[in-house]
Amino acid sequence: DVRVRFAPSPTGMFHVGGARSALFNWAVAKHTGGVFVLRIEDTDAARNKPEWTEGILSAMASLGMHADDPTFEGPYFQSKNVALHTQAAARLFAAGRAYYCDCTRDAVAARTGNAQTGYDGFCRDRALAYEPGRALRFRTPDEGETHVVDLIRGNPTFPNAAIEDFVVARGDGSPVFLLANVVDDLDEGITHVIRGEEHLPNTPKQQLLWEALGATPPTWAHLPVIVNERRQKLSKRRDKVALEDYLADGILPEAMVNYLMLLGWAPGNDEEILPFDTLVERFDIADVNSSSAFFDVKKLTAFNGEYIRAMSPEAFAVAVGPWLRAPHAPWSEEQFDAAAFAAVAPLAQTRVATLSEITANVDFLFLDTPVDDAQSWAKAMKDPARALLPDARAALAALEPWAAEPLKEAVTAVGERHGLKLGKAQAPVRVAVTGRTIGLPLFESLQVLGRERTLARIDAAIA
Ligand code: GLU
Repeated sequence: DVRVRFAPSPTGMFHVGGARSALFNWAVAKHTGGVFVLRIEDTDAARNKPEWTEGILSAMASLGMHADDPTFEGPYFQSKNVALHTQAAARLFAAGRAYYCDCTRDAVAARTGNAQTGYDGFCRDRALAYEPGRALRFRTPDEGETHVVDLIRGNPTFPNAAIEDFVVARGDGSPVFLLANVVDDLDEGITHVIRGEEHLPNTPKQQLLWEALGATPPTWAHLPVIVNERRQKLSKRRDKVALEDYLADGILPEAMVNYLMLLGWAPGNDEEILPFDTLVERFDIADVNSSSAFFDVKKLTAFNGEYIRAMSPEAFAVAVGPWLRAPHAPWSEEQFDAAAFAAVAPLAQTRVATLSEITANVDFLFLDTPVDDAQSWAKAMKDPARALLPDARAALAALEPWAAEPLKEAVTAVGERHGLKLGKAQAPVRVAVTGRTIGLPLFESLQVLGRERTLARIDAAIA
């Protein structure tokens, strides 16, 4: 039975790369009827914080990976398993697969003449016993090769002679990450280790550990690195990488899941936007590509727009709810008018690509005076267009009925008198009333805003 795991270290905000690893594991578990294990690798006490663990759990839940799902096991905490890691280190020593070493880094460098070559095996046959300060090193075979079965990268082969005798427990006796990670995978019965490519250099060492501990190594799959538009590895210093930040900007979890599933994989038939169940049905980790995957924020945003347009009006109203209130919205509870919002919501739903864009699209309805966008003003309030405002005001003051179609006809007629096409003629009206050059269809907007407020704003612009 397939058992996969996601093993994040709680050392920061939950990263989109972590979310992709989690999702690919989740998809494998769902596709095969296997089990998804969540293990929090929290042994680095200096860098871990409980809030990062909570962030991981809540971000995963918002993407649909819930601890109450029957295929979900955990979360387990690596720190709770330290006794087992220590026992494994002792077993390796007892079996002669590991030895104690008292070499300092400087001593090794002095012998090898090169700080980069790694450990030279000096203590291999010194039969040292443990003493505080002595590290435990794994005795890497001198001969042969380690064949890694990797479903994504073919089967990389590593000559054992090139793998240094690496440390498995520090001078204070504490097991290192490399060993803890293997012992936990073994303990949890993991059959497939699916993780980021940055771990590939660890893999031959870890496979040797699996074998030395008497177990059959798992099947591996190293996911391609995720890069930004300049083909640089996505990094939290350079790029927006926190899943939470995307959700806070109004990327829908479903759109995010769909987009992340395509980072290194394609569902086929030239299809991209598909329900998660369909993605899972088609998902095979062996079809994942080994070349780097571009995290294309524009494409993610476009996907999100499609997901927004596919929502029912009711679902859309619920989803934008938070963006219609403080602290997102600059208007107060009293200024908000639910009926006015409902009247323009269908227009907005077809135009916004992220939920957060709703705020600027409807603020003219709720603010007493429209936002003052200097750029829009400079662009649209130039003569001859600006000169038509008094005429437009007069036409709108007398207009009956106050409705989108007559509004359009009236502004068109005023524009003609000033030698302006509708596009040019409506620009100053739009800026006077909404404060911006772009927004929802103007005449529907004016209909909802009402005559009184429209005229008052045009008056203020003329003054
Ligand atoms: N805790 C490791 C990390 O967050 C994961 C190691 C693994 O997946 O094997 O990078």
